Amino acid sequence: MTESKLKVVNPWYHRGLDFKCTECGKCCTGSPGHTWVSEDEIVALAAYLKLSSDEFGQKYLRKVGSRYSLLENPVNYDCVFLKDNKCRVYPVRPTQCRTYPWWLQNLTSEEAWQKAASNCEGIQKGGETVPCEKIEEALARQMQYEKNSF
Ligand code: SF4
Ligand code: SF4
Repeated sequence: MTESKLKVVNPWYHRGLDFKCTECGKCCTGSPGHTWVSEDEIVALAAYLKLSSDEFGQKYLRKVGSRYSLLENPVNYDCVFLKDNKCRVYPVRPTQCRTYPWWLQNLTSEEAWQKAASNCEGIQKGGETVPCEKIEEALARQMQYEKNSF
């Protein structure tokens, strides 16, 4: 078996990873970035806030190339929906938010995971071992989302 196949069958995190979100809100602020939203998510977010999609777009979105991203505060980089360290649209938050920290760039190696930990106290503190199957499920959801949406 080649090494790359071995990694797919038996990733470095095959025993699971310790993580429990403390809801500190740090991943919703801190540095410039993008919170991508698909058309379906825009519809869901707008409905949640009782706005039309157009109204929602004017108030909360910026266009980046052919994609849409949530606005962020230009000074502190808070996501437009972060209030008192909590997400104002939590039940309908975008897939990108739901699947964090189970993103490919955080899971490529143990080093990458440790790097992610420096920005996420839920990783630093651990708390619960998330089984490999759950991690893979979230990772697949994020990758499928990116493939379908952009
Ligand atoms: S939508 Fe909510 S969870 Fe996602 S970045 Fe904004 S505040 Fe954070
Ligand atoms: S930085 Fe980590 S612990 Fe804090 S809200 Fe985000 S996922 Fe949860």
